Amino acid sequence: MKLVLATHNQHKVGEVGAILSQSVRGLELLGYDGPEPIEDGTSFLENALIKARVAYAHTGLPSIADDSGIAVEILGGSPGIFSARWAGGRDNIANRQLLLSQLDDVRDENRAASFVCTIAMVSADGEVSFTGIWPGRVARHEQGANGFGYDPVFIPEGFEITAAELEPEIKNSVSHRSLALEQLASYLNQL
Ligand code: IMP
Repeated sequence: MKLVLATHNQHKVGEVGAILSQSVRGLELLGYDGPEPIEDGTSFLENALIKARVAYAHTGLPSIADDSGIAVEILGGSPGIFSARWAGGRDNIANRQLLLSQLDDVRDENRAASFVCTIAMVSADGEVSFTGIWPGRVARHEQGANGFGYDPVFIPEGFEITAAELEPEIKNSVSHRSLALEQLASYLNQL
């Protein structure tokens, strides 16, 4: 089955293709000239569906899209779907600094957080979705240079180092994104 991944990020396309052991094509490769979706959903699921629906409507090929972020318990699940722009712009450093300052006086036991990734797939068979949750807590300081986004301030459950201190292969085998992708992979294998 030919799959479209509704993203312009070729790195993501390679990563997803490898985990699914399947040929996945990004919008770039397809020469996509369709509309750019407006991600105005109120949940990871809604935003993932918006992107997958637009790609499917324009290409007619089974289309998958993901939406992800970090949900901090004491902030009521924020930044959540606003993770990429938490401090206003798409600035990862400012986003992390804001989050750390919001939790300045919060003790370790109240710093629970999860990375969440929802993947939606839209095809002639309808719509399905899968969610991966990677639990942990927000660190007190930034640590580590791997990864991206909130990795330097996220300590996964079972570790005492941040996601940015994990080897990328380890992160990619246990992360919210890989958990969601594994579910999608087993769904696709049953088709
Ligand atoms: P998306 O690309 O619209 O799904 O936005 C995801 C945002 O959530 C990113 O910009 C990051 O800030 C954050 N995020 C999602 N997954 C990760 C991760 O694996 N590590 C660190 N930050 C992440």
